[in-house]
Amino acid sequence: MTTKIVLVIGSGGREHAIVWKISQNDKLERIFVCPGSAGIETVPKAKNVDLNLKNFKEIGEWCKKNNVDLVVVGPEDPLSQGIADVLDEYKIPTFGPKKNGARIEADKEWAKFFMDKYSIPTARWQSFTNADKAKQFIKSADFLALVVKASGLAAGKGVVVAENVQEACKAVDEIITAKKYGEAGETVVIEELLVGEEVSVLAFTDGTTVRPLLPAQDHKKIFENDLGPNTGGMGAYCPCHLIDSDTMDFVYKNILQKTIEGFKKEKIHFVGVLYAGLILTEKGPKVLEFNCRFGDPETEVILPLLETDLLEVMVSCCQGRLHNVELKWKENLTAVGVVLASRGYPASSSKGDVITGISKVESLPNCLVFHCGTLQKDSNTFVTNGGRVLIIVSLSRDIPVAIGRALLSCSLIDFDGKQYRKDIAQKGVSRSILKQGTSTYQ
Ligand code: AMP
Repeated sequence: MTTKIVLVIGSGGREHAIVWKISQNDKLERIFVCPGSAGIETVPKAKNVDLNLKNFKEIGEWCKKNNVDLVVVGPEDPLSQGIADVLDEYKIPTFGPKKNGARIEADKEWAKFFMDKYSIPTARWQSFTNADKAKQFIKSADFLALVVKASGLAAGKGVVVAENVQEACKAVDEIITAKKYGEAGETVVIEELLVGEEVSVLAFTDGTTVRPLLPAQDHKKIFENDLGPNTGGMGAYCPCHLIDSDTMDFVYKNILQKTIEGFKKEKIHFVGVLYAGLILTEKGPKVLEFNCRFGDPETEVILPLLETDLLEVMVSCCQGRLHNVELKWKENLTAVGVVLASRGYPASSSKGDVITGISKVESLPNCLVFHCGTLQKDSNTFVTNGGRVLIIVSLSRDIPVAIGRALLSCSLIDFDGKQYRKDIAQKGVSRSILKQGTSTYQ
């Protein structure tokens, strides 16, 4: 049966890239997006729909009524709240795991138990629900330095990399005692600090077969040279040469495959994207975190390089046929994505500032504009509507050219308070000089 009608859940740059890529399937008739955005709705065949994201049964009924063949879930919240479980009751194929699989992201303590049980390399750790016991451990731990994490979902904010014992104890007080992240901080995970480059390796899976995507590197800090507070991500590039093909082999066998085998043993049928946030330590790659969905902004630089039809891959995952699919990539291309953020980000954000220059950049060759947080004011005008506003993605065989074009594009787009990093992918440049060519790992 052909997949003609799709519903994508989400509204950010990640979902814009997913919708853009899915829409390239020539049999697709309509792609609904909930809640979507005016920027996403510019994609051919896309249409925003206003459904209650708190009521999955309503979404199920709506899908039945509108003959939706596939639902693709972008963000982690609906997955961890069980959207895929409810849609399964309505027999609607869903790209994204059920609640028990989403736990790998939504419950860091459980994820750590899982990794230890299945010998998946990760930082040493302990978890606590009692602040005094946590602080006692901090004072006695033989770790060089400590990272304190709220175990639950905290919109990417519940992690403190502590410089010293005092800072780690303060983080425990904030998370457990002051309940800074509410229920998400009832349990804290305390880990040893690992040192190395961070790389994201995402993989499609149908619950049995795993197909890794090209590795990407995010830039989490707000300022250049990785300084300042963490953000949702200020840019990314793909492929990331910091990870060579031997290391990718290791990641495939010892992290991705082991995780899917572990899921099977736990009777978890995981369909969708498994995202491994890795750190490349002197002792090899270790998992910092797992996510149960596409990463943002990694998706915006990975999908433009994918040659294979994304909709077919997703349907194959839902039907348990991923073993029949080989992913093909646009050879030797690099994608560099630079995020334009609004004034005050990440502490706050500015809304309603008029954005100019989008169409100028859209008309440049090998340049894509994905909307992260914009609102349409009138037929010709978009305004800012969030912390991350737009991501500009530039594609080239040459990383320096891709970077240069992305930065030129960033200078062509303007709004009050615009901020962006000018060093996205610089590490990739030095690596590509050392190692000519592009990773073709698959
Ligand atoms: P997480 O949400 O667990 O990936 O943590 C967010 C960020 O905190 C990561 O991308 C790392 O930069 C940092 N981080 C988390 N855990 C560790 C660790 N054990 N060692 C070093 N940095 C870490």
